[in-house]
Amino acid sequence: MKLYSTNNPALSVDFKEAVFNSLPQDKGLYMPHEIPALEQDFIDNIDSYSLPEIAFKVAKNILQNAMPDEDLKSIIDDAIDFPAPVVKLNDNTYVLELFHGPSLAFKDFGARFMSRIMSHFLEEGEKTLNVLVATSGDTGGAVALGFLGVPNTQVTILYPKGKVSPIQELQLTTNGQNIRAIEIDGTFDDCQALVKQAFVDAELNERFRLTSANSINISRLIPQTFYYFNAYAQLKKEGKSDVIFSVPSGNFGNIGAGLLAWKMGLPVKQFIAATNVNDTVPAFFKSGLYEPKPSIATLSNAMDVGNPSNWVRIMTLFKNELDEVKRVVSAESFTDEQTRVAVQEVFEKFDYVVCPHTAIAWLAVEDYRKVSGDYSSAGVFLSTAHPCKFPDVYEGAIALKVEIPEQVRSLEGKPKQAVEMGADFDVFKSYLLSN
Ligand SMILES: *Cc1c(COP(=O)(O)O)cnc(C)c1O
Repeated sequence: MKLYSTNNPALSVDFKEAVFNSLPQDKGLYMPHEIPALEQDFIDNIDSYSLPEIAFKVAKNILQNAMPDEDLKSIIDDAIDFPAPVVKLNDNTYVLELFHGPSLAFKDFGARFMSRIMSHFLEEGEKTLNVLVATSGDTGGAVALGFLGVPNTQVTILYPKGKVSPIQELQLTTNGQNIRAIEIDGTFDDCQALVKQAFVDAELNERFRLTSANSINISRLIPQTFYYFNAYAQLKKEGKSDVIFSVPSGNFGNIGAGLLAWKMGLPVKQFIAATNVNDTVPAFFKSGLYEPKPSIATLSNAMDVGNPSNWVRIMTLFKNELDEVKRVVSAESFTDEQTRVAVQEVFEKFDYVVCPHTAIAWLAVEDYRKVSGDYSSAGVFLSTAHPCKFPDVYEGAIALKVEIPEQVRSLEGKPKQAVEMGADFDVFKSYLLSN
């Protein structure tokens, strides 16, 4: 597998280099030169494969010979050791539950796969791998749990003070060992800017072997394609072949992976990018002007991204033509008010509790149906996190229905370990250099 930079199509690096660099020096993003189509026979019979089997087929197709088959197989079996069920809510409405991993969020797929890929590529006697990650909530927990105890790695997580939920904060700050958390007095975009600047800082790169665990790392994106194929397989078993995926979107890694799956031949009728009021992409669809903005805090805080990093990847999949994107993708944004009503409605209609991010994806399916008149396709909305991570959102009967999984109960009462800091690069840099 060879990868280029979205800022330099002539660049060609191998998978290992892209994984460890995370970002090319030119601040573009890595994309595969080739995205081969899977064999039609595999797609036609996909419902006879298990999730790990599908994952191996898909990973092998895109990674080609980046590592021996047995190693890839064991990485997948170890990383993807939890299910991704499609749950039927009614005849044409399904929810793809991506929250059955250790941090109860879809980011477990990316983080667990990436940590094992990195550990596979680390060579004997190399210096410690320093993972820097900015999180608006769920990334940090997934990365912390994905790397916890992995030898020769140290993880530094930056999160915006006061903008993550109590459970998310527990997942970020109670680990110890090779995981440390920095609480930034600022927004997620500030955290992301600090991390991005660290990656292009000569002195830091000299001193440390830096790498990123954000959704910008290509090894985070690839495993997220697996569950789209697996969801399609489950729907096919039910006799559904016209499928619409609605994806709660912030940094656009999740939907980017869906589009990568589509490029590899997954027959998807439509993707919907569902956002909160951080609507840079939906606004772009309407006006044709791409205007990144500062992020706004919302109920669906893991989607509070004003300048989605992965958008450029999606554009390159469509040769930078917005009209081409629009053939496959639509985009819609929703307010907190609408989100609250949706949580209530989903509960009343289906006796099912959605997290605020997931609620937005459901709203987008409903809207899409009204606008397109397509009520026959299977509308699948992705559930990106377990509702228990957002306890403030629920009241009464809904709150009672949310159960707390063991993964969370075991963290309660553990002491918080985090360093507090302003959004100043020099302070961050000197902390890294002296700790
Ligand atoms: C990260 C996250 C999102 C947004 O995913 P992107 O890949 O950044 O678009 C949505 N929901 C939850 C719960 C998340 O943690």
